[in-house]
Amino acid sequence: MKKRILIRFKKNMIDKPIVYRLVKDHNLIFNILRANVLPKADSIMVMEIEGEEEDFQKGIEYLIDAGCGIEPIEQDIKRDESKCVHCGVCTSVCAPSALYIDRKTMEVNFDYKKCVACELCVKVCPVKALNVYFDF
Ligand code: SF4
Ligand code: SF4
Repeated sequence: MKKRILIRFKKNMIDKPIVYRLVKDHNLIFNILRANVLPKADSIMVMEIEGEEEDFQKGIEYLIDAGCGIEPIEQDIKRDESKCVHCGVCTSVCAPSALYIDRKTMEVNFDYKKCVACELCVKVCPVKALNVYFDF
């Protein structure tokens, strides 16, 4: 399985090899999509984690036991459906095609699982329908 999650680190965890342990002890592959790591403050990382389901679950348990906050990425990225006018502008800046035009309905769909939280769509949406709630 492959999943994108947001991990919150407390400032006293910054010198611990937490991500290394994910790989070494839980056979997981990771890709850091976005990070804001500060030496004297709480930090945040958006990661794509890939591996066997059992390894993934154990890896998540390890992160929680280590004191990390875990959030599914879709919890922090929202589109206000009542505001969206399906103009398609956001699809032109969304590199992973999380926002895409359904050619049958000509509506813009949002596949949260593909989003890498770059926030480019937030900047270009003319009606401010998109919001990212990460504390980057
Ligand atoms: S740019 Fe905004 S209004 Fe246009 S399709 Fe995207 S979310 Fe909807
Ligand atoms: S933040 Fe917006 S532009 Fe960036 S990947 Fe997610 S949906 Fe696409």
